Amino acid sequence: MDSPEKAGALVINTCGFIQAAKEESLEAILSAAREWPDRPLVAVGCLVERYRRELAQGIPEVSGWFGVDEGDAVVRHLAKVCGLQISVGAETSFRPSLSGSWAYLKISDGCSHRCSFCAIPLIKGPYRGASAEAILSQADEVLAAGARELVLVGQDSALWRDGGMTLSALLLRLTEDPRVLRLRLMYLHPEHVDERLLESVAENPRVCRYLDIPFQHAAPGLLRRMGRTGSSRTYLDLIARAHRMMPEVSLRSTFIVGFPGETEEDFQELLRFVENAEFDHAGAFAFSAEEGTAAAEMRPRVPVRSAQRRLAALTGLLADVAEAGKRAWLGRRVDVLIDNSAPTDAPEGVVAVGRTEGQAPEVDGVTYLVAADSDVPRVGELVEAVVTDVLGYDLLAELL
Ligand code: SF4
Repeated sequence: MDSPEKAGALVINTCGFIQAAKEESLEAILSAAREWPDRPLVAVGCLVERYRRELAQGIPEVSGWFGVDEGDAVVRHLAKVCGLQISVGAETSFRPSLSGSWAYLKISDGCSHRCSFCAIPLIKGPYRGASAEAILSQADEVLAAGARELVLVGQDSALWRDGGMTLSALLLRLTEDPRVLRLRLMYLHPEHVDERLLESVAENPRVCRYLDIPFQHAAPGLLRRMGRTGSSRTYLDLIARAHRMMPEVSLRSTFIVGFPGETEEDFQELLRFVENAEFDHAGAFAFSAEEGTAAAEMRPRVPVRSAQRRLAALTGLLADVAEAGKRAWLGRRVDVLIDNSAPTDAPEGVVAVGRTEGQAPEVDGVTYLVAADSDVPRVGELVEAVVTDVLGYDLLAELL
């Protein structure tokens, strides 16, 4: 919450996928209720979808509880509690969201995979793709509002198609618009990253050479228990293919440690995979037994202390690998899409903040741009710079 004192009502967007996210969401609701008792408080999202009745009984301070596909009802409720007249559009589940130079376009919702650890299909239901028409119209809306990078999201983006129109064709259609400086694909299930998808990323200069593939693990036996196919060998082959087609591709992934039945040998295989795969960005989580999922019933459970030890080892390795990857960018020319002017605590000489094509908004680092005060680029401008330093997760680059 940036400035809740100015808000007519507070809306907390919750997450209910894993235990840590549930606790964080609950804490956000409770602290908003404590700190701003005079503001109407509304909670939306996945946690509400899963536990609406229990939450409503336990936290009466919240005036409205709304699940994942209830955008119109949220707007109507806010209008009522704030005393406003608002007209609501026909369909809000695929609404885009815009921030500075980039916008998310939700191309699908729900998931028909049955990964044994995952509560998303229980919360969001089966896979539903948005129509090409709806996506193009969302794109037009955010481009008109100033977006220059479109970030395509869904639980499994690689699966998208609409009748005869494939994802590759959709990428081409979207990038025909000259306002689109960049297009980025997020959340690609490894089973669906095939030659054609890699080609459509590699051959279209406006599509970011960036692959976000949540592998989750690398030991084949454990992947089967997770309800997934693949192995460290097939995944490394896929990554090698991507590197051959796009030598500068950036890779993001996520991993789970401490899944029921994970042996020390499985974990060592995961570490070897991570060392070889050289991810630029990755997240790691300890297994969380989610009610209603198959994995919640699986045994043997990995003791919490072992899971935490494995998580610390994996996180440390991922950080080292990512740092080495960033160092490799030193001295290279990059295109930086400007997102914001420089924050007050930015390093000296920095005039703006942006991202390279290897940095997705919100989840990866940023690039701080150094330039003369007379050369400050505008938000939404794509500028050429040379990388001069690595600052933790971020890069420092000088405008050319
Ligand atoms: S593909 Fe992703 S969203 Fe779907 S069940 Fe597996 S982990 Fe969950």
